[in-house]
Amino acid sequence: MGAHIETEDPGGTDGTGGPDGSGASRAARRDEAVRAAVEQGLLGPDRPLVGLLDVVGIRESAAELRAAFEAVTAPGTPVLHAFAVKAAPLVPVLRLLREEGVGAEVASPGELALARAAGVPAGMTVLDSPAKTPAELREALDLGIAVNADNPQELDRIDGLMRTRPSRSPLGIRVNPQVGGGAIEALSTATATSKFGVALRDEGAREWVVRAYLDRPWLTRLHTHTGSQGVPLSLMARGVAEAYALAEEINRRAGRRQVDTLDIGGGLPVNFASDATTPTYAQYARMLAGEVPGLFDGRYGLVTEFGRSLLAKHGTVVARVEYAKTSGGRAVAVTHAGVQVATRTVYAPGSWPLRIAAYDAKGRVKDGPVVVQDVAGPACFAGDLLAQGRSMPLLEQGDYAAALDTGAYYFAHHYGYNSLVRPGVYGFWPGGRFALVRRAQTVEEVVAESGGAQAEGLTGSP
Ligand SMILES: *Cc1c(COP(=O)(O)O)cnc(C)c1O
Repeated sequence: MGAHIETEDPGGTDGTGGPDGSGASRAARRDEAVRAAVEQGLLGPDRPLVGLLDVVGIRESAAELRAAFEAVTAPGTPVLHAFAVKAAPLVPVLRLLREEGVGAEVASPGELALARAAGVPAGMTVLDSPAKTPAELREALDLGIAVNADNPQELDRIDGLMRTRPSRSPLGIRVNPQVGGGAIEALSTATATSKFGVALRDEGAREWVVRAYLDRPWLTRLHTHTGSQGVPLSLMARGVAEAYALAEEINRRAGRRQVDTLDIGGGLPVNFASDATTPTYAQYARMLAGEVPGLFDGRYGLVTEFGRSLLAKHGTVVARVEYAKTSGGRAVAVTHAGVQVATRTVYAPGSWPLRIAAYDAKGRVKDGPVVVQDVAGPACFAGDLLAQGRSMPLLEQGDYAAALDTGAYYFAHHYGYNSLVRPGVYGFWPGGRFALVRRAQTVEEVVAESGGAQAEGLTGSP
């Protein structure tokens, strides 16, 4: 049985490919985990907030990703799936994915350190940040990590580094095909004025890119990341098609297969409106194979960089209802999950609505008459709401509210507002089994990270 769920947009489609297209078994696993978390004391009056990760679900998504591209690539085509670490920067998650054959796409020294701590080998790591320092570039080149240069100035730096010490890193340039944006401006990477990559349609830019390759035999990759949440698949496919056409042009003018690998980025959108996984990796891969067949005929290796779509549906943040009250006739459940774990939803609820599931004080799925209510967080500002005017079974004191599909870019992305501690994160398996992924932060740690050792720093004389 799935939790009773209402959303602002109940329009999710059901029953798409994959072993769990409707998400029914995933919902059942989640319900079991919430109940077990309460029974085992991972959640309770003194531990009012926790993040849960569905290990079986993460493995299923990784397997679906591999299978989707295996189904459309010529036999023997090298394909590296590099998980965008920013979507779930947790070492045990990166290790789990690595075991599933998935590498890491990193965009900062911290993310690279996480990938290395998880044992992701250099050959399965890609560095893509738009603001790499010389030291970061040197480290990546010395480790043999793939690097995509974002812009001409960065390519200059790489030139200098390659002159002093050549590297075996696969190197490429990131291009912005400028095919346009999607529904969420802040996540649209291929707009005319995006900050990412070399803007291909700007005057002289395409010729500059081609010359850059002809002058540098060690440039063998080409990178684009065209979409993210809100960008339609057709637009993503257009971005990939543009990059493919450019690679073909470079190789034609070079008279050899200089570009041997296309990095097509990530960005598959996630359905936040129901448990169904839609669109699927299989749909996207089939669409790409239809639109850009040459990309899959074995002449090019492939790199992908999916983030949200690998993790989102496998995470649940569960918060205890500390108080239930009414205000102006509106029922309000005051919970422990707000802006610190669901920052995007709280600040941009129109773009990031989340489904909320209701569980009772024993962690059982809550049924009963549906009531219009607000689900609020603990932070001290009025907008700290997980859901506003939502119709769902009435949340009462001691119940639990679960924010669903929060495995990517949510509880792993703590925001330090009100000095609220980072919640603990646990992976779960069927049968009520849990493993610690990240322990909860302590108040002592908050003090230490807030200059606790420098208490006299401003009152003494420097
Ligand atoms: C964020 C990002 C990704 C992953 O995007 P998702 O929408 O999470 O799949 C991939 N590549 C690059 C370069 C990114 O910045």
